[in-house]
Amino acid sequence: MYIFIVIGIILLSIYLLSPSFIIYSTSRKEAQILIKHLKYFRNLSPKQKQIFTFRVKCFLKEKTFISKSKEQVSYPMKVLTAASAIRLTFGLKNYMFYDFPNIIIYPEEYYSRFTNTYNKGETNPLGYIVFSWKDFEFGNKDENDNLNLGLHEFAHALYIESSKDYLGEDFYTYHEEWVQLLVNKERFNKIKEEHIFREYALTNRFELFAVAIETFFESPEMLKNKLPRIYKALCNMLNQDPTRKSNPVIKKHFYLYFNRA
Ligand SMILES: [Zn+2]
Repeated sequence: MYIFIVIGIILLSIYLLSPSFIIYSTSRKEAQILIKHLKYFRNLSPKQKQIFTFRVKCFLKEKTFISKSKEQVSYPMKVLTAASAIRLTFGLKNYMFYDFPNIIIYPEEYYSRFTNTYNKGETNPLGYIVFSWKDFEFGNKDENDNLNLGLHEFAHALYIESSKDYLGEDFYTYHEEWVQLLVNKERFNKIKEEHIFREYALTNRFELFAVAIETFFESPEMLKNKLPRIYKALCNMLNQDPTRKSNPVIKKHFYLYFNRA
């Protein structure tokens, strides 16, 4: 009889001290916000949800949020902003966007003195990412319309950071492959004629990458079907396949579980 009690206590202790339990028990608030607002998160397996919320919390510790309205940036707003960054980098070692310590939130479209235009969002190499919250929310609401301001701006940030050496070898190899695939005139014309990406993608290569990322996450099946090589290159670059909804990360590296950097 006693032996069963002792074994029970040992098993319970192992469970309570396991990283999964610690992460789950300390990230419940974040998980509730994400379940309510983000289909991508709702679809993840319990284990993947734990890793995702862990990364959200690490990300938030490093960022300064600046409100451009009378109201402060609320905690759910911060969690949802972080979730855009984590969704994009879920398969990568680095998800902290160290070059962008500041996140500025305007209530709606704003005038930028940096670009001298009215913007919905901005990724500034001087170290800040800017969002119109109205447009950020709009992007998250419909997860199949290929419009997602959060993913768009963090994709710009990732592109800027890709010139640094801490994103991992795979990212650079496949990023280069992706660029080379687009150089193909036939493929580029197909993108243009079939409106696979919205018109704005054709502005320049930076916008093409950001818009492609929005489509990659919001219409993965369509992109996989119409441009399989481009889709595969993006999967390899980001180490995730969004058609595998509960378990999108392809190669399960040790760093996915424990590494902060
Ligand atoms: Zn853009």
